Amino acid sequence: MNHNQMTILIVEDEPSIAEVAGLYLKRAGYQVQTAGDGRSALQVMALNMPDLLVLDVMLPSIDGFEVMRWVRERGDTPIIMVTSRREEVDRIAGLEMGADDYVVKPFSPQELVSRVRAVLRRTRGAIDNVERPLAFGNLAINPQTRLVIVNGKEIALTAKEFELLWLLARHPRQVFSRQQLLERVWGLSEFIDPSTVTVHVRRLREKIEANPSEPVHILTVWGIGYRFEPGE
Ligand code: CA
Repeated sequence: MNHNQMTILIVEDEPSIAEVAGLYLKRAGYQVQTAGDGRSALQVMALNMPDLLVLDVMLPSIDGFEVMRWVRERGDTPIIMVTSRREEVDRIAGLEMGADDYVVKPFSPQELVSRVRAVLRRTRGAIDNVERPLAFGNLAINPQTRLVIVNGKEIALTAKEFELLWLLARHPRQVFSRQQLLERVWGLSEFIDPSTVTVHVRRLREKIEANPSEPVHILTVWGIGYRFEPGE
């Protein structure tokens, strides 16, 4: 399962904040639900537990701490707490109660997205070890350090090149369309030119293939997209 299909529940009583945060998280490829107070958050979660919770502390009806307690009684769904600058004590209490991270209002939506990514990476990695290093003949990929080694030599990849390689390599021989790669690696598929994928694949091949014009790892599937060949 890839992170782009994960569901984030935003619990926030200020509609403008919920809206902007939701917009950015959707663009980053997540499914987003929102709840305007603690009570409706519990109703949403009783039906379907999200993969991560963005939780405002100060909420009408049931406050963020109560919501957090409810969630922690049921498991370790990651929680990112949202506090305002003057709620230092709340922040400490929240972390002690089991929040995974926090953001302070006013926060930038990009910052929230990167916190969400980091928390999900950390918590999912702990659960199912999806982030273990992979090795294919002379090619080794380490997702924790984001290092790629080819023939014993460290190769510098950009963030997107790495994500593209990592997605392909952990699904060996699975065919991905350019559209799927755009959605999963870039998230903002409707705003990005599909030729972006082609360009990144070309650069990746130049970096990791012995002969980029006759690639052995990143293969073109004509008329569709690409697949990763692990080799023998
Ligand atoms: Ca609030």
